[in-house]
Amino acid sequence: MPYLINYKNFNQHPYIMTALNKFSSMALAAALICASCSKAPKGEERYAEFPAYTGDDLELTVNDSGTHFTLWSPEAQAAKVQLYDNDLGGEPFKTLDMERGEQGVWRASVPEQLYGKFYTFRIKYDGNWLDETPGIWAKAVGTNGMRAAIINMANTNPDGWDQDRGPVIENITDAVIYEVHHRDFSVHPNSGIQNKGKFLAMTEDGTVTPLGDKTGIDHLKELGVTHVHILPSYDYNSVDETRLDEPQYNWGYDPFNYNAPEGSYSTNPADPEARIREMKEMIQALHNAGIGVVMDVVYNHTANNDDSNFSLTAPGYFYRHREDGSYSDASGCGNETASERKMMHDYIVNSVNYWAKEYHIDGFRFDLMAIHDTETMNDVASTLKQLNPSIFVYGEGWTAGDSPLPVEQRALKENVSKMQGIAVFSDDIRDAVKGHYSNEEAQGFVQGQTGNEETVKIGIVAATNHPQVDYSKGNNSKFAYASAPTEIINYVSCHDDLTLTDKLAKSMPGSTEAQRQRAARLAQTIVFTSQGTPFMFAGEEVFRDKKGVHNSYKSPDSINAIDWNLKHQNAEQFGYYQELIKLRKAHPAFRMTTSEDIANHIKFDEVDQNNVVSYSIVDNANGDAWKEIKLIFNGNPEAVKVEVPRGNWTIIAQDGKIKADGMGRSSGGTLTVPATSALILAQ
Ligand code: CA
Repeated sequence: MPYLINYKNFNQHPYIMTALNKFSSMALAAALICASCSKAPKGEERYAEFPAYTGDDLELTVNDSGTHFTLWSPEAQAAKVQLYDNDLGGEPFKTLDMERGEQGVWRASVPEQLYGKFYTFRIKYDGNWLDETPGIWAKAVGTNGMRAAIINMANTNPDGWDQDRGPVIENITDAVIYEVHHRDFSVHPNSGIQNKGKFLAMTEDGTVTPLGDKTGIDHLKELGVTHVHILPSYDYNSVDETRLDEPQYNWGYDPFNYNAPEGSYSTNPADPEARIREMKEMIQALHNAGIGVVMDVVYNHTANNDDSNFSLTAPGYFYRHREDGSYSDASGCGNETASERKMMHDYIVNSVNYWAKEYHIDGFRFDLMAIHDTETMNDVASTLKQLNPSIFVYGEGWTAGDSPLPVEQRALKENVSKMQGIAVFSDDIRDAVKGHYSNEEAQGFVQGQTGNEETVKIGIVAATNHPQVDYSKGNNSKFAYASAPTEIINYVSCHDDLTLTDKLAKSMPGSTEAQRQRAARLAQTIVFTSQGTPFMFAGEEVFRDKKGVHNSYKSPDSINAIDWNLKHQNAEQFGYYQELIKLRKAHPAFRMTTSEDIANHIKFDEVDQNNVVSYSIVDNANGDAWKEIKLIFNGNPEAVKVEVPRGNWTIIAQDGKIKADGMGRSSGGTLTVPATSALILAQ
């Protein structure tokens, strides 16, 4: 999502200031339009009285007795199903009038199994027939998701799908997450990948650059990440699937059909089975490589307002509104959904459950999660954990604008300890380590800007209560908001805003690329050794950039594609990331699971220099083979001297180099930590 802000300061944010100014006139215009609009909500209170449907056969069931349609639309005056031979164009070959049933649903059936056919629903509302919609539960769709498809889902399973399993992990803190857009990953001409920009890209073995470096899934294996977090992969609105031969790009935060894959990532959007089968093949290939798949989900808003599938099935119900009847907009994208209402709550829970069951998804990342209520998020996590204890859930613990949902009910970062099995992104560590996310010149700890030391420490202890961390000095949060490190995702950059490479270029004027790469290494060393779960943006391991573009959500491939020749050019950088990941995976001391363990095993050192953080992880923390690990981060652009207790230390990281198994010995004493680097010792 383009707007990453904390609700507490959202109205001071430059983007939002503009948005709010624009917004007042938009709201006024919307109010004027809605005064004469037949779909204007008649008061939110009535939604609580709507009957909720408790069956599991919403919209489409095909069985021995035929094809059955069930649409939930309590206020419809009539409803019908239109049946088509094709996914686009032509007239319906048949129209079925639906009959009112129980719990707000409408039903129609035919005795045949209509495999290969397509359908849409239409409802009559306030005397008018609304536009066609594939419904909100279409699990297969044709081109551009305009019509739902009737397919036999079993036909979409690749060989061996029944045996397919994702990686087993005990705690989210054991994961190393790699966030990637399908197109960024494979579309560059030197990726060596055949299926560029497609789900199938991640199924190709043995791909290399012209210079011989591994790409694709082999690259992921070589890097050592445990989970790939794929940017939105449900059917989204912006990319026109009828003209995929033309250059088009979008991140995909504009949801259209939540329960079917995006067509532009398939080899044939017109074939409803292709996108499903190919996405499953991708997941299977990653699972075979021991890598889990986290899906980015965006239930907080839809691409359209009155024309969304939600609005065309049950107008008004699925959204929050302002008192004047206009759409409230905590997403900054024109609307926000209403998870506190029974059928929206159930929709979110059932939808993620469906993806986990049908597609074997291993985790979910919730966009603007604080638009949802904490109860819904708790139900999401508990339902998924019942299905598969290795599944984890995390999200953005903020909104992009104000919401009618009371602050105490929002799934905010500050409320994360009130939820079970949910983690949030730490903007604390993000901004302290590399400087403010949107102010491009702003420096952080690794550029040598003092005043970030205590917030770096908040990051190290995963925002849990620690006797040596003074939260009053925190730059973003002023209290220990996490009750356990399993509630925190640590990162310094993601698809939003500048890449780490661009951020360092903008904030280190006059620096050399070598200096910036050292700063990137120090930044990621802090992230990957901190308590909580590390998360990285794809391509940072080869020092990829986005040519200085912040919000590249629809920028062309020339901005977003990862140039894999960088892997050759920046081979040392890649090697550093590999060793850093290896170090974390080999040592449970970096992966504690309780705040008590952190308080007992992390000891910060008194440091009399600015921009230096020094601490030890002691007493074989979390069953680690190492009795003590000493970590000293020097964010200064010059070397500093530190005192390390005498001992028989193995050097793990020094002067911008790292080796998980060690690279020499030190007996401690007065040691030098070179400019912009980490010193890690173990014994
Ligand atoms: Ca689409």
